[in-house]
Amino acid sequence: LLDVRGLTKNFHVPGRGNNVLCALDKIDLHVGRGETLGLVGESGCGKSTLARTLLMLEQPDEGTIRFEGTDPFGLKGKQLLAWRRRVQMVFQDPFASLNARMTAGEIISEPWATHTDLYPTKKARAARLNELMEIVGLRASDAGKSPQEFSGGQRQRIGIARALALNPDVIVLDEPVSALDLSVQAQVLNLLNDLQKRLGVAYIFISHDLSVVRHVADRVAVMYLGRIVETGTTEQVFDRPRHPYTAALMSASP
Ligand code: ATP
Ligand code: MG
Repeated sequence: LLDVRGLTKNFHVPGRGNNVLCALDKIDLHVGRGETLGLVGESGCGKSTLARTLLMLEQPDEGTIRFEGTDPFGLKGKQLLAWRRRVQMVFQDPFASLNARMTAGEIISEPWATHTDLYPTKKARAARLNELMEIVGLRASDAGKSPQEFSGGQRQRIGIARALALNPDVIVLDEPVSALDLSVQAQVLNLLNDLQKRLGVAYIFISHDLSVVRHVADRVAVMYLGRIVETGTTEQVFDRPRHPYTAALMSASP
């Protein structure tokens, strides 16, 4: 479904002349339809940079991101919009990532302003908004409230509904439950699991919490200093790590 090959991204380090930091170093990844790929690795290894690059929020220096064989670079207009629809993202902090000046309904509906052909009439958009709010367990009658009027878990539900607005095939979840209390984490994880069963959407699930990843992932990719050092089934990576870094990461976590 989604195939990443040789993805490389360098950042120039300010004040250090020509020094570059290689945030992504020839990343290869494959995500199949309806599966959950866990992405783990210590802070600063490049997980969020990879997520942002997959969403084309960052321009890579090298490599390809193919969705069903099509690479977005070089696409224009409608074709590029169609490509962008396929991959959506949920951010870590539902407090920081939702615009406080918009209502929940406006936040969820916003992507339709760009992707105008998806729900072309006001009536279709209103109906779909109600449906999305229900799907994520929010009351449709709360669409007029602003994000501050919701709890942390509810805000993350708004973020998830927004990610679903364009009916994507892949959702990149960057630490989607890290900012939430444990009991709320479980609720949001259950919701994500239900949505996957219902909609067949694939997840790239980024988390530093290995117990959460073990619970949700079908396969796991381990990232270290901008590289994927190991990919395997969740069971294999956790119980029979092949790379020394994976073994160290596993033994360092409780
Ligand atoms: P965490 O687990 O803490 O969220 P991460 O794995 O998501 O970490 P990234 O945020 O992807 O890590 O950062 C990878 C590296 O790239 C870090 O060294 C970071 O300082 C650097 N980096 C990220 N974004 C930029 C940027 N816009 N400009 C310069 N350097 C950046
Ligand atoms: Mg990050």
